[in-house]
Amino acid sequence: MSTGVNGSGFTSHQKERLLWVYKSDVNTGLSVLLLQKTNSLNIALEYVANRLSITAFLTFWLAVWAALVMSALISNRFEQNNKRLAFMASHDDLTGLPNRYHLVSMLNNFLTKEETSGVPPEDRKGALLLIDLDKFKEVNDTMGHAAGDELLVSISKRLSELAGTKAQVTRYGGDEFVIWHQELDRMEAEVLAQDIVAACRQPLLVNNIRFEIGASIGIACYPQHGSEVDVLFKRADVAMYHAKKHRFGYQMFDQTLSSQTAYWTSLRGQLNNALQQSQFVLYYQPKVTLPQGVVVGVEALVRWEHPEEGLLAPGMFIDIIEQSTVVHEFTRYVLRQAIMQCRLWLNQGIRISVAVNLSPYNLRDDEFIPFLKEQLSAHLVPPELMEIELTESGTMSDLNVAQRMFPLLRAVGVKVSIDDFGTGMSSLAYVKKLDVNYIKIDRSFITNITTDFRDVAVIKSMLLLCSNLNKEVIAEGVETPEQAEKLHELGCQLAQGYYFGKPMHPLVITPLLIKDIPDLAIVTPIKPIKKATP
Ligand code: C2E
Ligand code: MG
Ligand code: MG
Repeated sequence: MSTGVNGSGFTSHQKERLLWVYKSDVNTGLSVLLLQKTNSLNIALEYVANRLSITAFLTFWLAVWAALVMSALISNRFEQNNKRLAFMASHDDLTGLPNRYHLVSMLNNFLTKEETSGVPPEDRKGALLLIDLDKFKEVNDTMGHAAGDELLVSISKRLSELAGTKAQVTRYGGDEFVIWHQELDRMEAEVLAQDIVAACRQPLLVNNIRFEIGASIGIACYPQHGSEVDVLFKRADVAMYHAKKHRFGYQMFDQTLSSQTAYWTSLRGQLNNALQQSQFVLYYQPKVTLPQGVVVGVEALVRWEHPEEGLLAPGMFIDIIEQSTVVHEFTRYVLRQAIMQCRLWLNQGIRISVAVNLSPYNLRDDEFIPFLKEQLSAHLVPPELMEIELTESGTMSDLNVAQRMFPLLRAVGVKVSIDDFGTGMSSLAYVKKLDVNYIKIDRSFITNITTDFRDVAVIKSMLLLCSNLNKEVIAEGVETPEQAEKLHELGCQLAQGYYFGKPMHPLVITPLLIKDIPDLAIVTPIKPIKKATP
């Protein structure tokens, strides 16, 4: 203990820690010593320490909680972004439908899984419908891409409604859609395809204009037609191609289609050689006046004298040519043959026009018109004896090019015809936009002309419009005298068809033409120049 006058300090006594304070007053001589246990201070300190640790604890957990909330928010945002990106990668922007990538991975998954929703692999089935819209390109070309987009959206809605919730409807690309339905068998898939074809034929309003498009569908069924994704797609594609080519609406895959595809592939490989060896020959079908039956012209229709396959009709190879690189060379070959034949006939005193069919691709060939002029002058053939036929669908597939090229062809002096009119999507109103001489009414309108009043109505309006626009009408595919008479009665003045003569080899048709010189008239009105052979 301190002995100083005043002081303080700590000391211990019996394990107790004590605070002492000593104070003495020299005036009075009194001294005070104060001893105080330090426990109460400890308690105070302990209390403060406790409060502090509780606060620290709470702060810590608040911080942890805040960090957790923040990280949850961030990961949620990430997840949403990822989901959005994944959706964008697997869906089509325009229609919102799943895209090709999504479908293929889903199908791969389905076909390779051991078990799907409790269904073992051996009991699994499904149908793949590959849908390609017809005439969509025309809408895009004539009405613009915005209209085309609107149409695709409407179609995608129709498809989704028809396919139902159990199906996977996909925009496969461009104007192609795919429906995969894992509960459909063959029959059910065909029923769905029929419904889709009918629905796609229903007119659609785009920008207040009615469009009648259509769809061609190829179907491949799992497992009958394939158990791998790419096999199923290939087969649906082969079937779709057939449906489109033959305008069947839909086609179920079968093995014979595949062998046809192989056959076409082999023909494609022989095209160059066939051209070099002049295996393509032109047959000529007469065009006559009604009712007299005077031959005023012929249409050159190509045939392939195939060394092994015999005589092939254009339906077997024109598509292949149009998709090949020889399309321009082929048409020039045909044009040269036709001009040479015209010259030969002129030499024999036969003055008739010769029509040549063009592929729409030929209109894009800048060399075509110079070649035409050169050939006409080389063989001294008057341009007015040449006619160029282009199908309505071919014309409409690139209306701008047609509108630019037709006047150029007319300027050369040749005539221009729209072939197979009525089968494309164009309305009669388009006719006025086209600088052409003839409109050839497709034979589908002629077949039932004596029985179907609707065909009669269509032909009547075509005749009226064309006469107002100063264009001549040729009726195609006339097979009977009754059809010829009906056409004459309606005011149609030109016709072509088996009734008057099938396409003939030059050696066959030339004597018939010579026989009828000087006016190439067939003696009896509306009488075939050659009996149609079956
Ligand atoms: P197209 O130009 O419309 O020719 C008429 C087609 O109808 C010809 O078929 C002809 O034989 C057929 N036909 C004519 N009259 C009748 C009839 O009374 N009844 C029936 N059922 N059919 C008739 P073909 O010769 O098989 O030609 C088919 C198509 O191939 C042609 O249709 C044409 O678009 C195309 N084609 C023909 N030759 C050529 C060519 O040199 N170049 C191009 N690009 N296409 C050609
Ligand atoms: Mg033709
Ligand atoms: Mg035709």
